[in-house]
Amino acid sequence: MTRRALDLVIAALETIREKSDRTPRASRTALARLRNSPVSLSLQEACTFPTEQQREAARNKAHLLAAIRERVVACTKCAHLACSRTQTVFGVGNPDADLMFIGEAPGADEDQQGEPFVGRAGQLLTRILKAMNFAREDVYIANILKCRPDMPAGSFGNRPPTPTEMQTCRPYLLEQIEVIRPNVLVALGAVAVEGLLGTRAAMRELRGRWHTYNSIPLMITYHPAYLLRNQAPSEKRKVWEDMLQVMERLERPISEQQRNYFL
Ligand code: SF4
Repeated sequence: MTRRALDLVIAALETIREKSDRTPRASRTALARLRNSPVSLSLQEACTFPTEQQREAARNKAHLLAAIRERVVACTKCAHLACSRTQTVFGVGNPDADLMFIGEAPGADEDQQGEPFVGRAGQLLTRILKAMNFAREDVYIANILKCRPDMPAGSFGNRPPTPTEMQTCRPYLLEQIEVIRPNVLVALGAVAVEGLLGTRAAMRELRGRWHTYNSIPLMITYHPAYLLRNQAPSEKRKVWEDMLQVMERLERPISEQQRNYFL
């Protein structure tokens, strides 16, 4: 970015701050840092320093989420899962996130580490986020189920949650969504959709277009585990196109290179 362009960005942010009723995503500190920054600082980086107001909102939301987490940690509503779990897996990320991802249930890795999406599928989700210019800490990630679905003794792998298990655990997720109130929700895979909306349908009919959950725009896309099983560029492109729609909805800058991934 040239010095002139940087000056224009600073001027625009200052004008929004002073005259608009919209809250600009840049604090006075951020503006000062912009002024003193190398000219190569990207516009996106410049616009994502949280304001004091946003930090305060995040602190309040973090408290509310902590109270829900306490109930989840002690939850034994599904007696069979409470017995088999290593620990509950509540959710992770920015309590004041604009973007929230919803998966189905913890797998073996998540059960061990107490964090959603840390196995191979989770690493792929982190790479997708990076391609969108998000860090994991910028978004919020949670599952419908907070306990790993139990498996027969001696067997490996994971199983999907049952409709009853999802129905039992769903209220915790709804509380999380209510606290975070993201601008966009993304449901990963058909099971997550079923857990969230209570509807079962083929992913090819659900993905790629906007739905609504509780007045929050909801994008449905494939679970990253699907992309690990099916590595065809055409499938990766479908997920990426869904994420481009999410970025557009969030008014995130999109480069030509980003638009052309997997083409
Ligand atoms: S899956 Fe949810 S409802 Fe069931 S025991 Fe775990 S936390 Fe409780």
